Parts: sequence; structure tokens; C-alpha cells
Amino acid sequence: MRRSHHALDAVNAGTCQKCGTPSLSHRACANCGFYRGREVVNVFAKLDKKDRKKREKEMAQQEKASAKKEENK
Ligand SMILES: [Zn+2]
Repeated sequence: MRRSHHALDAVNAGTCQKCGTPSLSHRACANCGFYRGREVVNVFAKLDKKDRKKREKEMAQQEKASAKKEENK
């Protein structure tokens, strides 16, 4: 194969519809584990108790923030 084939393609990046963090399209979100509005990966399962509480707080705040954004539309 010629070296003209060695260039890297741009990754198909998108943002998570649930939490808004940048994530690959057609992949479950690494942050919240949701894909197309459904939870496909239990991201809490691999966290210990302390991290889980922290993450739950963060998610609640993000949901509040996104709800406010939609009110302003
Ligand atoms: Zn997400």
C-alpha cells in the first residue's frame, strides 16, 4: 500500500444527547452510558460507593442545566 493511504481519517465525533459530553457517534456515551435515549452501559457498576454518589450529583446537575436551557428556547 502506498503511503498516501497512511493519513488519519477524522473521527466521527458527536455529542451525547443526554449529557452533552463529546462522544463518538453510534457508540454508547462513555460518561453516562446512554445510547439513543436508552441506558446500555451501567456506568455506576464499575464505580465504588463514593464515586457513585459524586457522579449521581453531577448527573442531577447536568439534567437541571439542560432542562433550563430548553425552557429558554
Ligand atoms: Zn452521555
